[in-house]
Amino acid sequence: MKQTLLLIAGNGRSGSTILDILLARRPLTATVGELRWLWSRGLTDPRTCSCGSAIPECPFWSEVVARVERDTGLPARVLGRRLESLLQNRSRARHLAFRPQSADSDVQEFLAAVYRHVFSLSGATVIVDSSKFFAYVSLAEFASRVPSTVIHMVRDPRAVAYSWTRRKKRPDVRGRSAYMPQYPPWKTARSWLYQQALLLRLRHRWHTYRLVRYEDFVARPSQTLEQLLDPSSTTATSSTILPCHAVDGNPVRFSGHPPRIRPDMEWVTQLPLHQKILVTAITLPLLSRFGYPVWPR
Ligand SMILES: [Zn+2]
Repeated sequence: MKQTLLLIAGNGRSGSTILDILLARRPLTATVGELRWLWSRGLTDPRTCSCGSAIPECPFWSEVVARVERDTGLPARVLGRRLESLLQNRSRARHLAFRPQSADSDVQEFLAAVYRHVFSLSGATVIVDSSKFFAYVSLAEFASRVPSTVIHMVRDPRAVAYSWTRRKKRPDVRGRSAYMPQYPPWKTARSWLYQQALLLRLRHRWHTYRLVRYEDFVARPSQTLEQLLDPSSTTATSSTILPCHAVDGNPVRFSGHPPRIRPDMEWVTQLPLHQKILVTAITLPLLSRFGYPVWPR
């Protein structure tokens, strides 16, 4: 059966984890969460897989890592560190996003092996990876050797900016209390503009590209899912829902029950006026491109 890799790109707090969870509730569709973080966070700073096990002890990820090491002949942690060092430098990451073929061949082989074994061990025909970072998405789209769709998820930058000011506990960190980072609205606005501009430029390079606005998704979730899933890869005759082994991502992933789909408009009343004006001013060049009003009502 045809395999498809769905790669979600965009800013954090744009609804990607909820989209990811809903997609994974479809037959023969599995989510890996934010796979980019398996190596630098999941294996070295033990986090909890969405199945409840510590990631190094999760049977699924242990087997993926063992098979990748067998295929590549190198420790997965070493390859993971090499991948992360490629992504961390912003100018190198930008270069990588536009020229993913310039990545070392062993890093490309490593990613191909990871996705190959994720597909074969999960039994899924569709894998959802919500890693989001543009350079990782571009590299994975090129190196995975699986027909891919890049889903560009965008949300009103004022909502994203407000979300990053809130204090949220990390339920996946083991043995200590940890919180998600918080950022000032100007910083989130600058990152939003940068990521959106890059993703719009990169979209012509990808085999299949879909733009999803958070606001449209929460208003009509079923319609969004139908548009993203190719009927030829999720057989209509199967009702097999696969177990979930997701890495990292928004704490909503660990709530243990299906997410409530409702427009989250708290920012309209809770983001201070001067911050709304600041975020609007910074993101103004692309607000209307995505259909966001300058002054939301
Ligand atoms: Zn697991």
